[in-house]
Amino acid sequence: MTTSTDTTVDAVIIGAGFSGLYMLHKLRDEMGLRARVFETGAGVGGTWYWNRYPGARSDSDSYIYGYTFDQELWESWEWSERYPECHEIRGYLEHVADRFDLTKDITFGTRVDSATFDESREVWTVTTDSGETVTATYVISAVGALSASNTPTFAGGDSFAGPTLHTGHWPHEGVDFTGQRVGMIGSGASAVQATPLIAAQAREFTVFQRTANYIVPANNGPVDPEVKAERLKDWAGIRERIQNSNFGFELYLQEKGAADASDEEREALLEDFWSRGGFHIWLGSYADIFFTTEANDLVRGFLDRKIREKVDDPETAELLVPKGHPFGCKRNPLDSGYFETFNEPHVHLVDVKSNPIAEITPTGLRLTDGAEYEFDALVFATGFDAMTGPLDRIDIRGRGGTLLRDKWEEGPRTYLGLMSHGYPNLFTITGPQSPSVLSNMPVSIEQHVDLVGRIIADLRARGARTIEPSKDDEDRWCDYNQEIAHATLFPTADTWYMGANIPGKPRVFLPNLDFVGPYRAKCDQIAANGWEGFAIDGEATPASEHVYTWAVAG
Ligand code: NAP
Repeated sequence: MTTSTDTTVDAVIIGAGFSGLYMLHKLRDEMGLRARVFETGAGVGGTWYWNRYPGARSDSDSYIYGYTFDQELWESWEWSERYPECHEIRGYLEHVADRFDLTKDITFGTRVDSATFDESREVWTVTTDSGETVTATYVISAVGALSASNTPTFAGGDSFAGPTLHTGHWPHEGVDFTGQRVGMIGSGASAVQATPLIAAQAREFTVFQRTANYIVPANNGPVDPEVKAERLKDWAGIRERIQNSNFGFELYLQEKGAADASDEEREALLEDFWSRGGFHIWLGSYADIFFTTEANDLVRGFLDRKIREKVDDPETAELLVPKGHPFGCKRNPLDSGYFETFNEPHVHLVDVKSNPIAEITPTGLRLTDGAEYEFDALVFATGFDAMTGPLDRIDIRGRGGTLLRDKWEEGPRTYLGLMSHGYPNLFTITGPQSPSVLSNMPVSIEQHVDLVGRIIADLRARGARTIEPSKDDEDRWCDYNQEIAHATLFPTADTWYMGANIPGKPRVFLPNLDFVGPYRAKCDQIAANGWEGFAIDGEATPASEHVYTWAVAG
């Protein structure tokens, strides 16, 4: 039994979002370990504690946007809409924390500054911004993949005199834009959700777009009560299906390629997916769109047409039609009236690709050609330093005192996206080089938390002190990850998947493309083979070929 002031524990968990909460429950309640969680926010929720901008909601269907590890928990919660809204997700996580009495082991309002591995004692020393120092055998990073917000540096810095907001840490009391002139930089998933709602309040609303996105309809709304009741009863079936799926959704890529379908057949299928809303047209689409430009262009043609149909002004429509990247290789946002918002006379779209933002000014911003825009409020919907950013912001020192961010200078180096050589007993839940952001996150989170639980239980059963990946298998995993990514069109797009949104960030593909089910099977086989690819107390078991075999290609 821990208390929130214990300075020696079995495990420190960093973050109290989906990952941290389940990790605490796993280690403390299921395995009897002493664990403490540190969380920067004043409450549970992680990413969802901070993302409260208007329209913020998950793009995953609500019935699968939660934990599946406990049937009674599954049956104890009812979502109100097809996609869960940010406040409801926070409510759900508070419900989970209450149900398992988790908050007593969470220290809120406290950021972990550093974690240092002491080689002689084989323990981690964790320090926080409140001045606490805690010693732990295991450290579990549950910091999230999209939690380090990115505010681009512009000349003029923070000279804007009005309120400056970032979608990734929105004021909890909300913001009233009534009667205001509002500027928003960015046109990714957050901007797409926020636009219709901010525009509904604002007197003038201007979106500064660098890259147009393929945006597909969400079709949000209440879910048919009969469907809801069926899903509530089908806990085991749904759990089994999403765990063994491609992306953690009940969506399956078509066996036939887009290029093999007749025009009529393809049109009918895409129209059907379009009308269903959500990720059908992406993750249930033709598999060849991820591999060949020819197939991808066939789906792009359909989507381009849809955008032009929705937007009245042809010039605005032209700007909103994505150019220069394939569909599906940049995260496509879900839309609830985004395109139609640009048909309103007080809403404007400005292209900052051809004419970049030159400077933030006290009254707004100036573009490179000298055009000036004035606002009462400025919103940065400029995203995140994805996947590596949250870890880079902590001083994590492994063997030899090496900083993890130095080791990862040329891109993340991990085995399975779960551990990094030289950092024994440090686990990264949904870390870079795991399926993570290419999946419905709760599914991948549960899989990683369960895996970490199994590893720790096994270490303890053997009386072993440490586990870390072997250098050889880490190198092979990194090479394998890039190799499979480069067999697809993903690397051809400038995206946060590639680190391309952050100036100076190395251009490497950050997630893993094994897909959820095959990655899970791989991890299970690794466990069955005695943790191949890992060294336990310095003794390594080399990984066999199945680890570097891509099921997706088969
Ligand atoms: P994002 O997709 O990275 O979008 C950031 C936007 O800011 C992009 O349009 C980007 O342009 C623009 N931008 C960045 N730096 C800029 C600069 N210097 N000048 C002009 N424009 C600049 O971020 P996000 O919308 O916050 O979404 C990030 C991810 O979070 C999503 O992809 C998704 O995975 C997740 N998310 C999920 C949900 C959900 O489930 N509902 C909601 C929101 C976010 P470029 O495209 O040219 O880089």
